[in-house]
Amino acid sequence: MGKAVSKVREARLELYRNKGTIHAKAVEGRFNSARWAMVWLTQIVFYGACWLRWDTGEGARQAILFDIVHEKLYLFGLVLWPQDALLLAFLLILAATALFFATALAGRLFCGFACPQTVYTSIFVWIETKVEGDHLARLKLDQSPMSARKLAIKTAKHGIWALVAIWTAITFVGYFTPIRELLPSVVALQTGPWESFWLIFYASFTYVQAGLAREAVCQHMCPYSRFQGVMIDAATASVSYDRRRGEPRGALRHAGSTGDCIDCGICVQVCPTGIDIRDGLQYQCINCGLCVDGCNQVMDKLAAPRGLIRFASEHELAGMPKRGGSGKRQRLPGPRVLVYASLLLLFSVLSAWTLGQRSTLRVDVIRDRGLLSRETAGGRIENDYTLKLINMEEVPRRFRVEVAGLPGLRIEGGNEFGVGPGSIHTVPLVVSSPAGGAPAGARPIEFHTVALGDAGTERREKSRFILP
Ligand code: SF4
Ligand code: SF4
Repeated sequence: MGKAVSKVREARLELYRNKGTIHAKAVEGRFNSARWAMVWLTQIVFYGACWLRWDTGEGARQAILFDIVHEKLYLFGLVLWPQDALLLAFLLILAATALFFATALAGRLFCGFACPQTVYTSIFVWIETKVEGDHLARLKLDQSPMSARKLAIKTAKHGIWALVAIWTAITFVGYFTPIRELLPSVVALQTGPWESFWLIFYASFTYVQAGLAREAVCQHMCPYSRFQGVMIDAATASVSYDRRRGEPRGALRHAGSTGDCIDCGICVQVCPTGIDIRDGLQYQCINCGLCVDGCNQVMDKLAAPRGLIRFASEHELAGMPKRGGSGKRQRLPGPRVLVYASLLLLFSVLSAWTLGQRSTLRVDVIRDRGLLSRETAGGRIENDYTLKLINMEEVPRRFRVEVAGLPGLRIEGGNEFGVGPGSIHTVPLVVSSPAGGAPAGARPIEFHTVALGDAGTERREKSRFILP
């Protein structure tokens, strides 16, 4: 009798695991709520931030914009230039280290709650549920032969998916081309070649990844799932089945003869990747916690304690006491957590320091290599230079340039220059020194540029002055 029940249940579970699309059963609970909170949070930010405006004092512009054509990244009041590559590199390393740190602490939390694949799959499945019905109705519809009703339902679902994918693509491209300019050109079908390419690519990508591929991306395409093993250790808390408490599992619970798992299969039915967490830690598990919600509901009905499936480390499941407990073998953070925490701190400090040291003035000095030097009728030696003044602020500024390093060295002509907001001003500069004022050869000199009316903003650039 027990074996027959188990076989029927196993056959039913196979429906969710191996037969085409996985139609997971909806479940309520704290992890499901947390997942949806993240969907709302990330999508309000993603769909909304490109519409924010930032007043520069000289006019308003899009607050967040990756202006590839002009090689600038606008983040509200901060404008990053290619010269800020070091800061961007630190920020990227910081983000990667934060991901590793979170993984070492609590497994694939990012996958289960914040990864765009998870978020968009949740949205697309929600649409599917609204159009086709719950998981059983969807299974039935998939297995039914094609009919006018099925065609209408599937067309409606794919149509809504396509609209969401197109809007997502417009929003994404709107971070690279100002969205207030992009949207009218999309409506008029007059987007440029690059915008058209990325709109089609990103809309198709969203539609295929979130609507059709879904969990297959997590299972077979995502590299992160494959190397997560090197980021976790026995102290990492992941969604786990408490085997000591649950086994031996049994359809009918007999006090003293079976564990707390009644083999109901709910944890498998709610799993978006269709795995059985009772088989142990698997690379397909995205740590979404939905099986925890499902199993907790079962435990509530059985009046048993929650947490048969829960976020727990190998140490905890092995019965090691918590830190501060009285046992000899205490649960300590794993070495990876400490290493990643140190790296996180280091890169946070480096990023903050780089940002603090960042100057809004850049100066490049290029010596004219075509002409070594020339002597003037007035008995002076002249060298030619090209000066690039980069004003990284969004207001016009004036700069004074001075030169030092040799006796009597001076700039011929004016030495104050105005530079427009966020612009590069290229200035040809003639520098002269009295003939015979210093030994012949290439002498080191220094250009000193100061921002007028902005004490503290200055740049010193080294160069050479050729004396015949
Ligand atoms: S939901 Fe809980 S009780 Fe049901 S099969 Fe899964 S672990 Fe066992
Ligand atoms: S096993 Fe649980 S935590 Fe892992 S993917 Fe499935 S439902 Fe989510």
